[in-house]
Amino acid sequence: MRNTREERTMTRVYNFSAGPSTLPLPVLQQAAEEMLDTQGSGMSVMEMSHRSPSYEKIHNQAIADLRDLLNIPENYKILFLQGGGTLQFSMVPLNLLRNSKKADYIDTGEWSKKAIAEAKKFGDIHVVASSADAGYARLPDFDVSMIRNDADYVYCVSNNTIYGTRFATFPDFGTGDVVCDMSSDILSRPIDVSRFGVIFAGAQKNMGIAGLTVVIIREDLIGHADSKLPVMLDYAVMAKDNSLYNTPPTFAIYMAGLVFQWIKKLGGIDAMHALNQAKAQLLYQAIDQSELFYGTARKEDRSLMNVTFKTDDPEIDSAFIAFAKTKGIVNIKGYRTVGGMRASIYNAMPLEGVQALVDAMTEFETQHKKV
Ligand code: PMP
Repeated sequence: MRNTREERTMTRVYNFSAGPSTLPLPVLQQAAEEMLDTQGSGMSVMEMSHRSPSYEKIHNQAIADLRDLLNIPENYKILFLQGGGTLQFSMVPLNLLRNSKKADYIDTGEWSKKAIAEAKKFGDIHVVASSADAGYARLPDFDVSMIRNDADYVYCVSNNTIYGTRFATFPDFGTGDVVCDMSSDILSRPIDVSRFGVIFAGAQKNMGIAGLTVVIIREDLIGHADSKLPVMLDYAVMAKDNSLYNTPPTFAIYMAGLVFQWIKKLGGIDAMHALNQAKAQLLYQAIDQSELFYGTARKEDRSLMNVTFKTDDPEIDSAFIAFAKTKGIVNIKGYRTVGGMRASIYNAMPLEGVQALVDAMTEFETQHKKV
């Protein structure tokens, strides 16, 4: 029987899933160790009252560590919410369409499209730039002059999980408030939080497990919602009670806290970014040198987190996905509308995992040439 931790670890695969995604092994191990007795409380974190001092310590430490990691200024609140990135597609317009009720959106893929559709229920939403006609394989041309002067906010997605593109640097957005969906690259690279009014991200890619959504919001943007808005959708309610208005997703917050500490131990966001650059470079180099595989995103817009690539033949793609599986490499199938392969190499994917994928690509290509 396989019982020891070491033996079980041996059976772990390299999981390139786009989310929920692979977690850092030390985080999983610590969670396992603390499962029955979390930090001397005599109970699992899952069994703690969210009003207990033991839980509040975990909650506040996670907030403090995230503030530290991203250098979040004091005039920003960190909220721990539920409902995924998707609920933010509604909460953002419901809370921020406060003056002209106009907002300008940059359309860079499936997730901005969904956010646009939701926001259109609540205000005058204008798509200022879109790369839909390029199949979202690149970012659209965008210039600050495209933004309406009286727009309540500008909305963008930092990293496009499905298409494998990202803002390598954020454009000049002017002086208005900027909302950014960072679901698939938060904590992967340094960001200047003060350039944004609201940043949000589901935790299940780079921060932990599903069930937690982190919102970072400048204080002056809180408190503008209609009084008829359900309390759970009002940033002001959640901010006032330090995200403890009702029962928060305690275990997901605990897990995010462990991930924050893991990143701090590695050396913080700069160290994480350097590792992410090394991983992405290794994989893109293999793709660019290959005669079989090619990248699907425009080079200058390539994501560090989601690497999308293909061969010319969907059957060969399927054969490669099956071949990779025999090597313990799983979840590399591309999104259904894109096809091909997508390797999500979030923070927790080790360099060795990317190397294993590159080795599998090389071996597959060599075999393929012989046929
Ligand atoms: N935004 C982006 C960029 C995403 O990748 C996703 C999910 N893959 C979402 C939003 C939706 O998030 P959720 O499933 O947490 O609602």
